[in-house]
Amino acid sequence: MSDITSQTLSEIIKNIREKKFSSQEVTKAFIVRSEKSKLLNAFITDNFSAALEQSRKFDDKPNFNLKLPGIPMAVKDLFCTNGVKTTAGSKILNNFVPTYESTVTQNIWNQGAILLGKLNCDEFAMGSSNETSFFGNVQNPIDKNLVPGGSSGGSSSALAANLTPITIGTDTGGSIRQPASFTGIVGLKPTYGSCSRYGIVAFASSLDQAGPMSKNVRDCSLLLEVISTYDRKDSTSIDFKRNNYSSELTSNIKGKKIGIPNEYRIDDMPKEIEELWSKGIEYVKDCGAEIIDISLPHTNYALATYYIVAPAEASSNLARYDGVKYGFRSIGKNLIDMYEKTRSEGFGDEVKRRIMIGTYVLSSGYYDAYYLKAQKVRKLIKNDFDEAYKKVDAIMTPSTPSSAFKIGEKTNDPVSMYLNDIFTVPVNLAGLPAISIPGGLDVKGYPLGLQIIGKAFDEQNILNIAYAMEKKINFKNKITDWWIKWPKKTLNI
Ligand code: GLN
Repeated sequence: MSDITSQTLSEIIKNIREKKFSSQEVTKAFIVRSEKSKLLNAFITDNFSAALEQSRKFDDKPNFNLKLPGIPMAVKDLFCTNGVKTTAGSKILNNFVPTYESTVTQNIWNQGAILLGKLNCDEFAMGSSNETSFFGNVQNPIDKNLVPGGSSGGSSSALAANLTPITIGTDTGGSIRQPASFTGIVGLKPTYGSCSRYGIVAFASSLDQAGPMSKNVRDCSLLLEVISTYDRKDSTSIDFKRNNYSSELTSNIKGKKIGIPNEYRIDDMPKEIEELWSKGIEYVKDCGAEIIDISLPHTNYALATYYIVAPAEASSNLARYDGVKYGFRSIGKNLIDMYEKTRSEGFGDEVKRRIMIGTYVLSSGYYDAYYLKAQKVRKLIKNDFDEAYKKVDAIMTPSTPSSAFKIGEKTNDPVSMYLNDIFTVPVNLAGLPAISIPGGLDVKGYPLGLQIIGKAFDEQNILNIAYAMEKKINFKNKITDWWIKWPKKTLNI
């Protein structure tokens, strides 16, 4: 039997159910590997002792009917976890211990999973490289000089490095799909309203969605099934009939029509991305699907629209961090001085940049010129997709305009950092589901992702297409465990 930590979620579940190993053995294996993997900086907070205790309890009274029986897993530190510190990668929440649980994580624990720890992320999920975290940048297990993508970079790094068998991230403009692409894993952003936002630290409320990150499409479908539920506690949660994504998974996609959008052929697109896309087209044709050229004419405006709407909502959401209600507080001469010092010291540069842009575009005099205009363009982008879906069942694009870039390469150039989101943000603006799967490696051996975008609530369809393609692609990540160090013994296991 291969090492436990390198197995997929489905394999581990099967082995636990067949009593080949216990929840304690699995939990220990991930803890030991995580202890040796501190260099990656994937964890902000570990929950190892409590996780061991819970796995012991599971083994004493196992319930194998649960969907995640005794499965340890780490989650992005944007999900509030009752009694476990939740920082959103920010100094301002450095000491915040929630007294409630996010619905998505609660759904996961209800199915028998065990919290291993909280994973690093860009501050308030603002970033494309996991370099804006107060807790330092995360390294990509593919190569020590590379970013793991962002903002769910701790999640993608931990998963690719086998520190957790599965994980969840959040995606406001690409934060699940882009890091998935950079680390060679699978990541799905569900339709807006599918997974509850209750208890997730808010960034841009009309765009934020939680979603699964996994080693393969089957695991992704299983976790989606667990986390996608209607929730009264979130006013934007949608009550629709959800599929049993994992049991309905099929690789038969014969006759499906897949759209290729013209406008995604951007200037200066690296040759390897073009090639990846062409290969993707061949893979789906091989599966019996039909390729159709489509047009999404307002794609060019998506990035500008996103970088108005998202900061506007962020500036409003982040107004609550004033040193009174949550987390960090700085001492001031008077109330205003305290607010000012708390926010100046508590937020990092990228967050401050977004607050300034957001406040500007919402201020009277500029509201109509920027925010209102952006909302109108957002509608046009959504209309483009609606038109396209009259002709096709799904759309395929690259996930990112390049493979993972170097740590520090774009930190002084926010616009080039933002350009990374070019293929992912239109999907959030339109509220659609999309999945990124590894499509191959570039010449340097770095992974490249392919994105499949679906109609609203059509997650089953994009999972099926991804599942069929995965079989053809047969992707193998090149990971050498360069970061592994023997730790000082911290746990008696
Ligand atoms: N990179 C994008 C941003 O910085 C998307 C982030 C996200 O999806 N959370 O806004």
